[in-house]
Amino acid sequence: MGLSFESTEEHSDGTYQVRKITGSSSTKPYRCPGCDQMIPTATPHIVAWPEFDIESRRHWHTPCWKKKNQRAPRTERTRNAPRY
Ligand SMILES: [Zn+2]
Repeated sequence: MGLSFESTEEHSDGTYQVRKITGSSSTKPYRCPGCDQMIPTATPHIVAWPEFDIESRRHWHTPCWKKKNQRAPRTERTRNAPRY
């Protein structure tokens, strides 16, 4: 086990548990849901999941995770899609 640091963050879409992964504890590549690119091994990054739902955890680039939190309140794309 490498060093990790876990905290709770309030986002506009809920509360997340956030774990900061140090490069040395990252042993396989993951796809970041923020930019759809791979996170190479040995890269410090973020693992986050909705509180009480660790099965839904995802691996994010650190800057992608920060962007998610910042842009979430402005995401209203679906509102422009008409439904008949
Ligand atoms: Zn990313």
